[in-house]
Amino acid sequence: MTAAHETVDVLVVGAGLAGLHTATVLAERGHDVLLAERRPGLAGAIRTTGIFVRKTLDDFPLPEDCLGPPIRRVVLYPPSLRRPVILDSDRDEYRVGDMAPLYEAAARRAVEAGVRLALGTRYAGRRADVYTLEGPEGPTRVRARYVVGADGARSRVARDLALDRNDHLLVGGEEVFEVPAGGDPPAFHCVLDPRLAPGYLAWVVNDGRHAHVGVAGYADRFPDGLRRAVQRFGATAPGLDGVHRPAEVERRGGPIPVGGLLRRISCPRGLLVGDAAGAVSPLTAGGLDPCLRLSARAADVLDDALRAGDATALEHYDGAALRASFRGRLALRRGLAQVRTPAVAAAAFGLLRTPVGAAAARRILFGDRSFPGPG
Ligand SMILES: Cc1cc2nc3c(=O)[nH]c(=O)nc-3n(C[C@H](O)[C@H](O)[C@H](O)COP(=O)(O)OP(=O)(O)OC[C@H]3O[C@@H](n4cnc5c(N)ncnc54)[C@H](O)[C@@H]3O)c2cc1C
Repeated sequence: MTAAHETVDVLVVGAGLAGLHTATVLAERGHDVLLAERRPGLAGAIRTTGIFVRKTLDDFPLPEDCLGPPIRRVVLYPPSLRRPVILDSDRDEYRVGDMAPLYEAAARRAVEAGVRLALGTRYAGRRADVYTLEGPEGPTRVRARYVVGADGARSRVARDLALDRNDHLLVGGEEVFEVPAGGDPPAFHCVLDPRLAPGYLAWVVNDGRHAHVGVAGYADRFPDGLRRAVQRFGATAPGLDGVHRPAEVERRGGPIPVGGLLRRISCPRGLLVGDAAGAVSPLTAGGLDPCLRLSARAADVLDDALRAGDATALEHYDGAALRASFRGRLALRRGLAQVRTPAVAAAAFGLLRTPVGAAAARRILFGDRSFPGPG
């Protein structure tokens, strides 16, 4: 049997938003939590645009000074970029997080709550309830009552716990740069063009502080790779009038699981949250709201299990049951995946010009639904 160097209630692997939130809630409830993150700092290698939807902003206390100006306008474009459909909301719908300070603020909150945050520390495997971490001072072994896989779409924890793993993935990439104030009103521009973004969308989010210019799609369908697709899109992208792209830009990217919440996301040893659990809308590819909500649920279940002294509560953390609310969005994802030529994209776009199509788009983009819902 491997000797453990330390013992904790919960080992959380991965300090993205899901891991930070789960760890903080558990520590606030008095549990001993170790949060291991392989990146040496949370401000680098960011994997998200950071668009937060209204419901998240309503329900979670994100630091005001880490959020960009509200966005009320979405502009949808066909491949020709001509005659876009403009959707305006009478409410603030989105705000883009300034993600480096936002992650750092979340980490400070975690540490204040009592979480031990180990940066530059990679989870490398397990034997029974002893987990190997490789940190700046070499390998250590940690005995944990429970482990939380918050380690992203290609979760090693999921594999080691023999839980379900994401097999339906998009890849997304974007460039981020500052823009001068005083331009057009903040807007979210989406282009439906399978040559640029096969199976998903190309986007420009310009909130008057930063522009995010990105594409996402099925990795094997990009004719010349993701990075080149971002560059091609950047050359003609809408929503950037009067904006100069600097020579140096921040690049972000990563996999996006879009197969819906995984069915088996817990076992007596632990559970999965965030991208590791597939908690991403299959249609919009938005994962920030689902990862926060699922993490809150995970923390409740682990709190119950730790208090009860047995793992029965983890049986209630059941992806198969929660997955039902993904059904409609999974069907729409299958539809979007079939858009393989500009002609099909243009025809699909025609639907958006009808009152029924525009109403459906408004429901998806400005709706109140989120996952998993309360309770
Ligand atoms: C390009 C792009 C743009 C996106 N834009 C949006 C958006 O605007 N709005 C939205 O709602 N969603 C968006 N998403 C999806 C959203 O960002 C994710 O669903 C969400 O960030 C997932 O959070 P997470 O904490 O589960 O995973 P992550 O943020 O990926 O965190 C996982 C963490 O685990 C760490 N890790 C991995 N393996 C190990 C290991 N072995 N040991 C230790 N640490 C490990 C990683 O370093 C990482 O920090 C986007 C995704 C991409 C790729």
